[in-house]
Amino acid sequence: MAGLSVKQEPMDIDRPGPSNNSEVIETRILELCTEFPKGVPDKVLQNDMPLLDAKERVNAINRLLAKGKIDLFKQGTELVYRQKAATVLKGGENEEKIVYQLISEAGNKGIWIRDIRLKSNLALTHVNKVLKALEGRKLIKAVKSVSASKKKVYMLQDTVPDRSLTGGAWYSEQDFEAEFVAVLMQQCYRYLQEKAVAAKKVQGGPLAIRNASFVSSAAVCTFISELGISKVALSLDDIETILNTLIFDGKVEKSIAVSGESGAGTDTKLFRAVESPLTAPGLVRMPCGICPISKNCSDIGAVTPKKCQYLKDWLNP
Ligand code: SF4
Repeated sequence: MAGLSVKQEPMDIDRPGPSNNSEVIETRILELCTEFPKGVPDKVLQNDMPLLDAKERVNAINRLLAKGKIDLFKQGTELVYRQKAATVLKGGENEEKIVYQLISEAGNKGIWIRDIRLKSNLALTHVNKVLKALEGRKLIKAVKSVSASKKKVYMLQDTVPDRSLTGGAWYSEQDFEAEFVAVLMQQCYRYLQEKAVAAKKVQGGPLAIRNASFVSSAAVCTFISELGISKVALSLDDIETILNTLIFDGKVEKSIAVSGESGAGTDTKLFRAVESPLTAPGLVRMPCGICPISKNCSDIGAVTPKKCQYLKDWLNP
C-alpha cells in the first residue's frame, strides 16, 4: 500500500453528486429557495442536482423541514419548497406562516382577503382568525384603499403603502383633503405672482420680462416646503400636480427648458402666473357645462336646477 495515494476530486458544490455531504445539499436547496422566493418545485431540484440520488434529496428535504428552515406547499399538482416565512413566526401555526408569507410577497400593494383565501386554500373563517392573530401581534396591518373604501388589503406592519392605495399627499384616512389642496394652490399661485411682479423690473423688453417670470417646479417645491404648511413631505410630482391644476384653471402657463447641446440634456418644467386681460364671461362660467351630474338633472326628482347648489353659487358669487 506504501506509495499509493487517492486522487482528491474537487467537490462540485453547485451540482452535488452522490459523494457530496448532506450539508452541501442542504445549502444548495436553501440557495435555490432564495433564488425562487415563490417556491422551488421538486423538478427544479432534480434538474439542478441531476447526479443526486432521489433518496438523498428526500432525506435532505426532510432534514430541512425538521430543522424548520423550509416549508412544503402544494401548487396545483406539484410540491414546492419555500424558505420559512420569517423567524418572527417561530413557533407559530402553519396557517399563520402561509398567510404571513402571502402578505409578505404582496409588498406595498398589499393583498386582499379573497386572494389570501384563494392562494392559501384556507377557509374564510380560518383566514379571518389568522389575520386577527397576526394583526394582534403587530406583524401585519390592514390598509383601506382610497379607490374602494370597503376593500381592505393586508401588508407587513412596517411596509409603507403604495400611493395607489393611500391616494398620496391629497388623502388623509381615505378623505380627500380639499382644503389642503386649495391652500397649496393659493400659495403656489401667490409665489408665481410675486415672481411675475419682480420680473417686471427686468430690463430688455416684454420678452425678457416674460422669460424672467418663469419659475421651475423645483423652486416652487422648495418654497412650499419652507413655508411648512404641509405635515407630509411633498414631492416634486405633488407640486407639479398642483401647478397643472392651476394651468387648467387658466391661471398659470407652462414651458419646458431643455438643457445641453441639441436638447440632449434634462428637461426642466417652468411655470409662470398669467394675467388674463379679460375675465371669462358669465355664460362661459355657467356650471351646467361641466356639471358631473347633468345627465341626472331634470325638472323633477332629486337633482333639479331649483335645488342646485352649483347654480346658486354661480348666481350669487
Ligand atoms: S342645474 Fe345644477 S345639477 Fe343641473 S346640470 Fe346645471 S349644474 Fe348640474
